[in-house]
Amino acid sequence: MNVRNCKKCGKIFTYVAGPPICPQCREASEKKFDEVKTYIRENPKASIPQISTDCEVETHQIQQWIREERLVFADDSPVGIPCEKCGAMIHTGKYCEKCKAELATGLNASIAKPEMPKPEPKKDFRNNPAMRFLK
Ligand SMILES: [Zn+2]
Ligand SMILES: [Zn+2]
Repeated sequence: MNVRNCKKCGKIFTYVAGPPICPQCREASEKKFDEVKTYIRENPKASIPQISTDCEVETHQIQQWIREERLVFADDSPVGIPCEKCGAMIHTGKYCEKCKAELATGLNASIAKPEMPKPEPKKDFRNNPAMRFLK
């Protein structure tokens, strides 16, 4: 049996998957999340510190929800978090659109790089080299 200490309250609990948080704390966190979500809907212009104070949630928890794309702010909202790559203001996720595009390009480049592909006997693979770039 996989037993761990809850990261929040320190209580020992049976760990299954996900963040190492006991069921009680997880439930409390979900309740908070709903509260914050409702608050943001009713106060779309509220800043993160303001949300933090009014909902009694730590700012880093709010930011985590934003990074996880669970909280999404409107495009015209002043609330945002910095892109993890370039620091531009974004409303959800980890990266701004520009960095996302760059990361996608970098990913394609690294796929295209291996210059000596092993001789592939499979016919359909060799006949469609462009397929690998289309995604
Ligand atoms: Zn706990
Ligand atoms: Zn960026």
